[in-house]
Amino acid sequence: MSRRGAGADRAAAAAGPGRGARRQAQDAPATADDPLGAASLMADVEWLAAPARHGRGSRSADARAVAAWLGDELRQAGYAPTTLAIPEVDDQVDVVAVYGPRDDLAPTIVVTAHYDHLGEVDGTLYPGADDNASGVAVALGVARDLAARRDVAGRVVFVFTGAEELGLYGARAYAEAPAYPLGQTRVVINLDMVGRRFFEGTADQDATLGAVGLPGDATLLELGEAAAAAAGVALVAVSAELLTLVGEDWRSDDWVFRDRGVPAVHLSTGLNPDYHQPTDTPDRVSRAQLERVARFLRGWVSRLAAR
Ligand SMILES: [Zn+2]
Repeated sequence: MSRRGAGADRAAAAAGPGRGARRQAQDAPATADDPLGAASLMADVEWLAAPARHGRGSRSADARAVAAWLGDELRQAGYAPTTLAIPEVDDQVDVVAVYGPRDDLAPTIVVTAHYDHLGEVDGTLYPGADDNASGVAVALGVARDLAARRDVAGRVVFVFTGAEELGLYGARAYAEAPAYPLGQTRVVINLDMVGRRFFEGTADQDATLGAVGLPGDATLLELGEAAAAAAGVALVAVSAELLTLVGEDWRSDDWVFRDRGVPAVHLSTGLNPDYHQPTDTPDRVSRAQLERVARFLRGWVSRLAAR
């Protein structure tokens, strides 16, 4: 068994019928251990969007259990995660994990992904596979891969936010009490809905990813395009202001930081017909797209946090 296999037993025992136990039972193929591989990423999406998670309602015990699971997965990967209380929502937290040096004043890369969703409404389950189990799976995969390889000298802070669906409350809580001063933040990269074809049902492009808030920062753009090319992703850079202008600013956690003058980017495959529907299920998430986005983010973060 891999180190993560052993840890998964403990986590499964601690957090109930979690992913570790399921993985053991199904004897997942060897490639499943590649944190950036489709098998590992999809295993997390399926676990997060499973009926047993009851749609990870923002105020629910299920969301709280997912936060505990995230803490266990990050500990197994070698992190010392902390939780941050969200003042507006009782008993809900952000889960924070720091990769890299702790004590210097060098710039910080922040990666955010919200883990909550709509829960069950009038007996109807909203699984939230793309929104946002996909973003959580990609962020967790990159966190695992960085900790396993330790090939990047800089600092990356992973923030799994709660209560996003209620009003970006998890991101607000982090912005009020960041692990490192916001002024030291090179960029916040927010992952929200990254698992489908680009604007499926309208533009409907494969291997394409939107990057809202990227224009205007030449270095960020240049490194992003290099990482995208290496991962086989076409990056569509969109200005946040343009979206506001056309009234299409679907707000996610990046706005909390952008409104505070911190460079922030929202990575997304955009809206699709299953957005906030009971049909946002794992079988509609593209395995190939998920892996491409994970390899893209890993490449971008590595370039940005290189010293
Ligand atoms: Zn979302």
